[in-house]
Amino acid sequence: IRYQTAKFVASYGNASKIPPSTCPEVCFVGRSNVGKSSIMNKLFNRKNLVKVSSTPGKTSNVNFFVADGVHFVDLPGYGFAQRSKSERERWADLIFDFLDMERSFNLVVSLVDIRHDPSKLDHQMIEFLQEGGYPFVVALTKADKLSRSQQGRQLATIRKQLNVPAEDIFVTSSATGQGIDELKRRIEAACLD
Ligand code: GDP
Repeated sequence: IRYQTAKFVASYGNASKIPPSTCPEVCFVGRSNVGKSSIMNKLFNRKNLVKVSSTPGKTSNVNFFVADGVHFVDLPGYGFAQRSKSERERWADLIFDFLDMERSFNLVVSLVDIRHDPSKLDHQMIEFLQEGGYPFVVALTKADKLSRSQQGRQLATIRKQLNVPAEDIFVTSSATGQGIDELKRRIEAACLD
């Protein structure tokens, strides 16, 4: 995949408006402020294609990008406490209405901050993916904020808590590029068939 050719396609505030998928899709989910925009920009090698939210929780739509015939789907960040309950519910509806659609989910990349234990919402998201049989990986974000030994400890702890196989969890940093090539290869493998 020539990630650097990525272009914005469309943005939707309502899942019912999203057309059926016609190509492989890779979706990105995670708590608001987890570093979702940053990691997508890093994959695309672009500064600001995916808006890095100055206000956490600003990305409240489902945003589609395309590179080499693969859709990259930016889902709203969940769990932004400062927003109203109705707004948080709208995002949750949008995320789960989208994931409930009949689509070619080639891979869901579930983002979790490496520094903290997964939140209740992180657990709910990953249980949803596990129970639904979605192909997914966990990308631990912001690894540059920890030393290598701390990274190793957090990786082991979080992996155990989330109950995901070792080959499905990646340690990444958008700041240093750590783990990005590995994630790219995994995405490509998921889009081959
Ligand atoms: P989003 O809300 O999930 O899209 O998160 P953003 O990509 O907007 O990132 C939230 C904040 O975390 C921003 O201030 C980013 O600069 C910062 N950030 C994101 N990724 C990294 C990373 O890998 N390392 C560091 N040190 N900071 C990061």
